[in-house]
Amino acid sequence: MAVDHSPACKKCRREGIKLYLIGTRCYTDKCAMERRPYPPGQHGLTGRIRFSDYGVRLREKQKVKRIYGVLERQFRLTFERARRQRGNIGENFLILLERRLDNVVYRLGFARSRREARQIVSHGHVLVNGRKVNIPSYTVREGDVIELDDKLKKVEWLEEAFELAERRVVSEWLEVDIERRRGVVKSLPRRDHITYPINESYIVELYSR
Ligand code: SF4
Repeated sequence: MAVDHSPACKKCRREGIKLYLIGTRCYTDKCAMERRPYPPGQHGLTGRIRFSDYGVRLREKQKVKRIYGVLERQFRLTFERARRQRGNIGENFLILLERRLDNVVYRLGFARSRREARQIVSHGHVLVNGRKVNIPSYTVREGDVIELDDKLKKVEWLEEAFELAERRVVSEWLEVDIERRRGVVKSLPRRDHITYPINESYIVELYSR
């Protein structure tokens, strides 16, 4: 499985927003966006970076890829899937990303970052409706029950992960039972549940060129 190993904090600085890619440090004043909230590189501090129309759309795509930790091929496949669905392509696309199992594990507070959630899933520690699912891109459905396996239920950092999750916007479409380390997809997410500053129409325009 391909993994993006480029420095996480540089990604936030490049996109100009906190993407919460690492975990605990993202919530402290050690966060690079608190200390150096400008793009990396020699022109970052001067503010002399200008983007063309194409560049703006490309940046928007990069930002969403980085938020969800998805590489280009998977990202494109998800987009094509959204294109085949009825309704607004951009909204469908974001909703499909939000329904990824690794994202749901993160949203439920079972991991401190999406990167960690992806690892937990691919190492086979997550059960969906009682069956092991080790595919991070698995799309959850309404009514799915997501839980951690017995080994992971006892790890020390889980409490920390729940604590961090409490600081994030509550995902109304999910319900979590912290005691049982168990979550339920109450309903499918809607566009307004995704609160990141994203202009998905830019991505649709980019891929429609
Ligand atoms: Fe982004 Fe987290 Fe690094 Fe802050 S600490 S810049 S939120 S990855």
